[in-house]
Amino acid sequence: MRKPFIAGNWKMNLTTREAVTLAKKLVESLAGVTQVEIGIAPVYTVLPAVAAVVRGSNVQLLAQNLFWVDSGAYTGEVSGPMLKDAGCSHVIVGHSERRQHFGETDESVNKKLKAAFASGLVPIFCVGETLAEREQGRTFAVVERQVKGGLQDIPATDAAKIVVAYEPIWAIGTGKTATPAQAQEVHAQIRSLLARLYGQELADQVRIQYGGSVKADNIAELMQQPDLDGALVGGASLKADSFTAIVRFQG
Ligand code: PEP
Repeated sequence: MRKPFIAGNWKMNLTTREAVTLAKKLVESLAGVTQVEIGIAPVYTVLPAVAAVVRGSNVQLLAQNLFWVDSGAYTGEVSGPMLKDAGCSHVIVGHSERRQHFGETDESVNKKLKAAFASGLVPIFCVGETLAEREQGRTFAVVERQVKGGLQDIPATDAAKIVVAYEPIWAIGTGKTATPAQAQEVHAQIRSLLARLYGQELADQVRIQYGGSVKADNIAELMQQPDLDGALVGGASLKADSFTAIVRFQG
């Protein structure tokens, strides 16, 4: 069955010293956890320092973004091979903050997903609707467009490895978590869409994380839902105690 995957998105936070301190605490507090896959996504500048801390542990290193060309005249961008070189195994692609503030589209997300696979990085592919879209009853239409657009021309051999993160934008950083039933409804819709695109066997294999104000006190209830396979955690991943409690939700 699907092994839960809980990842911390540190966003644009923490200096090298702060990031190394947090990573050290997590390596210690999460040692021996085998029933959950774990990852942390620091900012680019601290990746090598954090990589040195997590090497050999059960904490994997994720990047928050990538560009789709390997190298060249693209000032300010970072590529998949560079992230691999820095010690990353995974990369977050299409986070709503990137779609909202940096003009990312389904088309650019698709290029980034392809680039991630080409570099041997596992992408965490984020989708999710705004509050207005939910209120207009367009949640699944939006998520379907994002999933289909992001996965355009991606073969099953790659799609089988992907992690999808369903993150309703209205729940990110707002303290408003989707109810377990609201999350489950969309997760089930994403899984049946994956089944239509790639077949049931592949769809049953793909992990779908929930993201949006996940905390130590709501993770267990969310994880009881059959199609929730983990979480992408923002704010609560910046403190060792709260992220540890979330990862150790099973006690
Ligand atoms: C996120 O950034 O992916 C996220 C879910 O943030 P938060 O947990 O702070 O809502």
